[in-house]
Amino acid sequence: MTTYHGGCLCGAVRFSVEVSKAEIDACHCSMCRRWGGGPSLNVQADGPPRFEDEAALGVYRSSQWGERVFCKTCGSSVLWRSADGSFHAVPAAIIGDPEGMALALEIFIDDKPAYYDFAGERKRMTGPEVMAAFGVDTGS
Ligand SMILES: [Zn+2]
Ligand SMILES: [Zn+2]
Repeated sequence: MTTYHGGCLCGAVRFSVEVSKAEIDACHCSMCRRWGGGPSLNVQADGPPRFEDEAALGVYRSSQWGERVFCKTCGSSVLWRSADGSFHAVPAAIIGDPEGMALALEIFIDDKPAYYDFAGERKRMTGPEVMAAFGVDTGS
């Protein structure tokens, strides 16, 4: 378990977070790409980040199962969390691009546009595969 300290572009949002899984996951879903301007590159946290100032945070409920937390001042993407509070992922960049972490998984690979690809081989999952793994019933 390692404690990382994170902050947004403008510095209004600061937090610390515990991470035991030293891996980076990429999400190619259209929501992440709209939210951050590109695929999200996230580290899974062991529980919620401890924010210094909750008032600096904006929260957007992007789906029935997830919320996106951002800085109200500069708009930096700070956190994706499941609506039930059981899963937290922070962008690798916002905790200082931890050394020694490798890109281990790509999800929503079926949502990835053709104009980019990440080099190298790793596990890749489609959106339906991810939903099944998380036990999410998407309805239709
Ligand atoms: Zn900010
Ligand atoms: Zn995504």
